[in-house]
Order: sequence, then structure tokens, then C-alpha cells
Amino acid sequence: MKDTYDLIIVGGGISGASLLYTVASFTDVESVALIEKESEIAAINSHHTNNSQTLHFGDIETNYTLEKAEEVKEGAEMLAGYLEDVDPERELHSKRSKMVLAVGDDEVEELEARYEDEGFGDLYPKLDEIGRDEIADLEPKVVEGRDPDEEMLALQTPDGYTVDYGATAQSFVDAVAEETGVDVHLGTAVEDVRETVDGFLVTTADGDKFESDAAVVAAGCHSLQFAQKMGYGEELSLLPVAGSFFVANEGLLNGKVYTLQMKKLPFAAVHGDAEVHDGDLTRFGPTAKVVPTLERGDYDTIRDFFDVFALNVDSFASYTSILADRVLFPYVVRNLVYDLPAVGERAFLPHVQKVVPTVESGDIERAEGFGGIRPQIVDTSERSLDMGEAKITGDGIVFNVTPSPGASTCLKNAMRDTHQVLEFLDGEYEFDEEAFRDATIGNFPRAGSPTTKQPIAADDD
Ligand SMILES: Cc1cc2nc3c(=O)[nH]c(=O)nc-3n(C[C@H](O)[C@H](O)[C@H](O)COP(=O)(O)OP(=O)(O)OC[C@H]3O[C@@H](n4cnc5c(N)ncnc54)[C@H](O)[C@@H]3O)c2cc1C
Repeated sequence: MKDTYDLIIVGGGISGASLLYTVASFTDVESVALIEKESEIAAINSHHTNNSQTLHFGDIETNYTLEKAEEVKEGAEMLAGYLEDVDPERELHSKRSKMVLAVGDDEVEELEARYEDEGFGDLYPKLDEIGRDEIADLEPKVVEGRDPDEEMLALQTPDGYTVDYGATAQSFVDAVAEETGVDVHLGTAVEDVRETVDGFLVTTADGDKFESDAAVVAAGCHSLQFAQKMGYGEELSLLPVAGSFFVANEGLLNGKVYTLQMKKLPFAAVHGDAEVHDGDLTRFGPTAKVVPTLERGDYDTIRDFFDVFALNVDSFASYTSILADRVLFPYVVRNLVYDLPAVGERAFLPHVQKVVPTVESGDIERAEGFGGIRPQIVDTSERSLDMGEAKITGDGIVFNVTPSPGASTCLKNAMRDTHQVLEFLDGEYEFDEEAFRDATIGNFPRAGSPTTKQPIAADDD
């Protein structure tokens, strides 16, 4: 192993791993290192137990605007195409039905307008409007026990990719780890990244030192902490939002069923998902609990949270103004209850019943040890909560802060970062974007192609 590289990537979740794959496979950059503090790739938010495993295309996410959906769609098609190519046996992912459900006149009207008038039907040719009978064929438990006079409508698509993002991140690393010039350092915590005359000096917790011409920090919730230590992103803070899940051991759903977004709520509405590796396990969630840590269950990261919280007037004022919102405040309080033993399950039950009406309180339990943290960005100058990902571009260095849908868009992010890194490296190297697109989005099955004509099995693991 060497200790001087063209590029160092800090963080081996799906963001860092997809960038390593993109740079090592599709550019002539001579040396690149990935440095990860855990002993395995993708042990934190990208791990399959810690997120909802949805490949977000923007088709059934009613919290997305059309503009956001257009942006996310290309990224999702890149990852879907990659998976179709490298994972024909569906070991890293499964493909099932996916729908967003409207119940009652108001919701049905809203969903119809989204599909027919707002452009979502045109943007997603595989998305269909289906009524009660077709919903019952695909997801019998969603219809069972409902008032037969209640109106129902769903937007449904066969593009229900359920992804083990951790295993996918590992597949990116495996694809390039043996190549000359690629080093992967696991169990290596980066303590400091410092700018030097020629580039960057990266110091680990064990005192090892690595140098590079360019750097990308893809350390999830910790990326902002690294940025601020180097003087970037000082107007930003983080609202860490932990997400937990409830599980039903009976296979209640065959695929993904999302509910309609609650008005003005920034977090995705509760949904039901068949687990990627076990279709008999149905997950409901995620919840959204504001916590003062940067990693789930790791109390050492409380210190890190206070680094990015910044104990100043702007930070306090921003948090107060965001959390005092008339919609958000009761929602945040309710979410604290869901994590309480015994009462939590009962309090969460109505959300599950919105998807599967016949579920009773003994049918679900909290999924212990499941769930991660979404690093939602707070702009302290605007006192606003910015949903989605944040990219801070410095001099020779990029910092990625990646709440949902960061896993879905990992390859699109990697493509952008690759262009940026090559610019940092003074145009010495080239990116074969055409080959990258051939290997990714080039394999995505379009509407009418033979793959999409195949029936989607209830569980085709
Ligand atoms: C409840 C929940 C549900 C979600 N559902 C979805 C979903 O359905 N679809 C979707 O697309 N996204 C979803 N997301 C978001 C998704 O999980 C993230 O966008 C994605 O995992 C981010 O990947 P990452 O590689 O950027 O970060 P992470 O996976 O968090 O990886 C960061 C890595 O950096 C490493 N690191 C940190 N500090 C250091 C250091 N000092 N030195 C070395 N390494 C370091 C960490 O150990 C970690 O491995 C969800 C998130 C949550 C919490």
C-alpha cells in the first residue's frame, strides 16, 4: 500500500463506494484510496437494516416536486441499470410491485391531479392508475377490511426496486479493489483532514498519515463536521433525525405501499415494505425522532453533534423556529412516543392500519437494532430546514451530506463528483462518461422492453 494518492475518499458507505467504483473503473486517475473507520463497508446508514431499502425514482414519493422527481429519476435509473447488469440473480436487490395509495375522495382527487395534471404520469411511462380491484389483486391485505364504499386509487409501477444498499456498496468495492492503484483501508478512522501546499494531509486516529491531491469526504452525518473544521459550511447546521421501523412477521405486503404525504411535513409519510432478503417480513416506518447524536446508538457521537450544532444564537434560533412549526412540533413529539416500550407500538398502529387495515396491536413489534440517522441540513442564515442532500465544494475537496435519497442517487452523485475531482486534478485525467452510462443507466429496462413485460412475482428474491 502507498500513502500518497491522486484522490482520497473518506467514508465507505454507498456514497464513497460508488465514487471509488466510478473513478477506478471509468477514469485513468492513477491512484485512489477509500478510508473507512468501520471494519466493514457500509456498516452505518447504508446497511440494509438501517434504511427503507427503496430505490427512489420520484414516481410514488408524493413529498417530491416534479423538479425533484426529474432530478432523482436519472440517478435511480443509473443504480437500477447497474443492478440489472451485475445482479441478475437478485442477491443484492429484489424487484416487486410499488404503489402510492390514496383512500377517500380528497386523497383520490389529489393523487389523480398529480398523475394527470402535474406531469407525473408523463414523466413515468410505467406508472399506472389502478383502482380497488387491481389493488386487491396485487396487495390483497391493503383492501381487506376497508369500507367497500370508500374510494381508492393507487399509482403503481413494476419498478419497485428494493435494494440492499450495504451489499451494493460492497459490490462497488469488490469490482475495483484488486486494480492497481486502488487501496481500501478498513478499520481506519480519519481524525483530521488538512490543506497543504500541494493538496491534503489526512491523519488517522492511529497517527498514520496519507497525502492526496484531491479529497472527497463522504462520511454521512460526519461530513459537515469535517467541512466546518476546514472552514467550510459554517452557515449550516444539522438536525439528526433517527428513523426506526416496526415489523410484522407475517408477509402482509408483496411489495412497497406508500401512503400520501401529510401536507407541509418534510419527512416521508409512513410506508410498508417487504424486506429485501425476506419477503415474509414486512416493515413499516420509518419514524422520525430528533436526536443529539450523529450515529444511531453511538453516544460518543453526541460530542460530534455539538460540533455541528454550534452553540450560537443563530443555531438556537434556527432550531427553535423550525421545531416550533405548527405541523412539525406535534409530529416530532408524537415520534418520541413511538420509541417507548409498550405504548410505542399502540401509538404507531394507526399508521400501519392506513396501509393494512386489519393489523392489530399484537401483530407488529419494534424492529430492535434497525434504523439509522438522516442528517437533515439546517441553513442557519435562512433559519430553514433544507430537505435532500448537500454538497459543499471547497478548494480541491468536496463534502457530501447525504440524507434520503442519497443511496438512490449515489451513482449520479459519483458521476458529478468524478467530473469535479478531474477538474481539481487540472484536467490531467479523463472520465469515460459514455462507458459509465453504458454500464449503469444503459441497462435500465425502459417501458415496453421485454424485461418490463415480465410479471412481477410476489417475491422474486
Ligand atoms: C431511516 C432511514 C431510511 C432511509 N431510507 C432510504 C431509502 O429508502 N432510500 C434511499 O435512497 N435512502 C434512504 N435513506 C438514506 C440513505 O440511507 C443514505 O442516503 C445513505 O445510506 C448515505 O450513504 P453515505 O455513504 O453517504 O453515508 P453512510 O452510509 O452513513 O456512510 C458514511 C460512512 O462514513 C464513515 N465515516 C464516518 N466518519 C468517518 C471517519 N472519521 N473516518 C472514516 N470513515 C468515517 C462511516 O463509518 C460510514 O461507513 C434512509 C436513511 C434512514 C436513516
